[in-house]
Amino acid sequence: MHLPTASTILAILSAFYGLALALPGLSASPNRRDTVLSPLYAIGADNVPQLGTILDDTYGFREVGYTVVDDNVIIDGDILYGSSNMFQQAQSAAAAAIVSGDGHAHLTTRGHSAKPKAPWTDATVVYNYISDDVEKQLKPTVDGAIGTWLKVAPYLTFKRVYPNGPEQRGILSIQGSECSGCWATLGFNRRQQQAMRIQTGCTAGGTVACGVIETVHELGHVLGLKHEHQRHNRDDHIHLLCENIAPGCSTMPTGKTCCEPAANLPSGCCGARGQLAKEDPQSSDYGGYYDFVSAMHYADHAFALPDKKVMVARRQGDKVPSTLLGDPSKGDIARVCKIYSDECKGPKW
Ligand SMILES: [Zn+2]
Repeated sequence: MHLPTASTILAILSAFYGLALALPGLSASPNRRDTVLSPLYAIGADNVPQLGTILDDTYGFREVGYTVVDDNVIIDGDILYGSSNMFQQAQSAAAAAIVSGDGHAHLTTRGHSAKPKAPWTDATVVYNYISDDVEKQLKPTVDGAIGTWLKVAPYLTFKRVYPNGPEQRGILSIQGSECSGCWATLGFNRRQQQAMRIQTGCTAGGTVACGVIETVHELGHVLGLKHEHQRHNRDDHIHLLCENIAPGCSTMPTGKTCCEPAANLPSGCCGARGQLAKEDPQSSDYGGYYDFVSAMHYADHAFALPDKKVMVARRQGDKVPSTLLGDPSKGDIARVCKIYSDECKGPKW
């Protein structure tokens, strides 16, 4: 067993206490950037991501960028982690973990199981809307995205239940709001909330509404897919240009970039770096090759400084998409097939 290095401890502690400061209500940075318009990459007008470190059974031990929307903690740009309380537990677990020489807190040290991921029973996503008004507003978009998935994965069922109303366990609650981003739960967990939020357009933050393309991506999370660009081995395929990540704060020292270790960053800076962090290899289950055309791959300019890219392909012939792609790729289809292998007879990754 190895003791954590001083800088690791500092980074974890600062992340942990940073959360306590952040939770009462994240304040908007005066230097908030509005150049990235996708609601997946910029959650709401008033939420600047914070940097943290978590440890749980779904995400393992890793840095995350997070925002808090109505007590929902959103990580990785658009994945609903759970309540602030759950997130704090995962941060405490990270702070308490013994980190070995390879920089990972190993499974055996885990004291928390914050959010086990599971497929939806019988490949059936059960859903309703949080209100009749939201249904009226979002139904065409949601039906379009469901139709896209059913075309490529006809063994899935999306079961609409009635009536509309507040969140209930075991039911995906489809919600809408003007400025709180687009995000969704990862996989299914009977004991926790399941929600998918679709932004309907936000004039204050300059971000647009989520359409069918973004909703296809969100449903990918609902079905259990993680982000392709966060694969643990993504550095074999893309360069992540941390120097081009927008710090999202006004206190960044001149000349410093988001490549700095977390302990050297002013509080509230570079949360977007965590939104692009690699998955812990112990917790991620990606099949197949690195999939540049996955619907679960962010665009090359996600969270970037104006006119910059944060992700570029390593090899000639490969290309990081310049927008979110609207159709599940062959790889996405094969990965969902693996998650629902009892129902799917197609190729599985
Ligand atoms: Zn996503």
